[in-house]
Amino acid sequence: MLTDAPLIDPFQRAIRYLRVSVTDRCDFRCVYCMSEQMTFLPKKELLTLEELDRMCSAFVRMGVEKLRITGGEPLVRRDMMTFFRAMGRHLETGALKELTLTTNGSQLDRFADDLAAAGVRRVNVSLDTLDDAKFAAITRWGRLAQVLKGIDAAQKAGIRVKINAVALKGVNEDELFDLQAWCADRDMDLTFIEVMPMGDLGNEDRLAQYWSLKDLRARLDDRFTLVDLAERTGGPARYVQVQETGQKIGFITPLSHNFCESCNRVRLTCTGQLYMCLGQEDMADLRAPLRASPDDAPLEDAIRAAIARKPKGHDFDYSRQMVDGQVSRHMSHTGG
Ligand code: SAM
Ligand code: SF4
Repeated sequence: MLTDAPLIDPFQRAIRYLRVSVTDRCDFRCVYCMSEQMTFLPKKELLTLEELDRMCSAFVRMGVEKLRITGGEPLVRRDMMTFFRAMGRHLETGALKELTLTTNGSQLDRFADDLAAAGVRRVNVSLDTLDDAKFAAITRWGRLAQVLKGIDAAQKAGIRVKINAVALKGVNEDELFDLQAWCADRDMDLTFIEVMPMGDLGNEDRLAQYWSLKDLRARLDDRFTLVDLAERTGGPARYVQVQETGQKIGFITPLSHNFCESCNRVRLTCTGQLYMCLGQEDMADLRAPLRASPDDAPLEDAIRAAIARKPKGHDFDYSRQMVDGQVSRHMSHTGG
């Protein structure tokens, strides 16, 4: 039976935020995210755009107010604008409050206007460095100029851009203030992300890349007056305002447990698996009930059953200089 009762997990957290990975493919090969020779999923494993629409619409009916589209690189999936336009209808009814995406920016120049027309008001663009050579080294296949053009296009289309930078020891440490000033000049907020132990640790040693945000923040603190903001998004980000520039700087420390109690989000992979916690292996297959019937009732039942299993928190732990609680899947699978 279809009911529109909101999704509440066993710890009384209302689930209002869904992240959806729409593809595992990408036009970059960032060193901390993918190996150079990635094997991608066969296309038939992926949810079709129509299935993604049904899935997301079910969540919206059940109280999800914020949808973040991610990947892989969401903008490399063919015909993605059809999907964004389809989700735009939920913005028009007011059921959905925000439709947004996380992108590497490579295709924004092409799609910024269409995204704005579909109702996207903000995007997160991942950019770790402003140095051409370093950018090419980190992303392997990416070119900085293309991303900068994409950011220009998004701003021109009236979309607010937030930059996400992974803090990488010995790589972008020396660019901390350049990145901060560049974002302030362009009226963009900036969020730093700690490297997470996702994927295989075989050839890329995440611990060697690990730069603690505590240290990063202390360096900013030396130069600026940082005012803690009360703002909480239900996720692993904490924000400060830089008094001198007015800009907001975020710190995402997914390895800390300080956000689990207010966690309001779940993640859907491009194959229709729902992960109730970024740091746990438990998931629910929603593709089977979706494909089993054109009626959404079995899907909604499966969603409710999954939310009833949402754990209290996750198990990452770097504290013993080894990656405990490591999760074997790649970030491009769950979509960060
Ligand atoms: N391709 C899009 C992008 O790069 O923005 C969306 C998907 S990407 C997996 C989402 C975010 O995860 C990016 O900001 C990326 O920097 C971050 N990310 C990937 N691997 C990571 C890791 N091992 N630790 C921390 N952040 C990671
Ligand atoms: Fe692609 Fe984003 Fe992963 Fe980089 S971080 S390889 S851009 S999915």
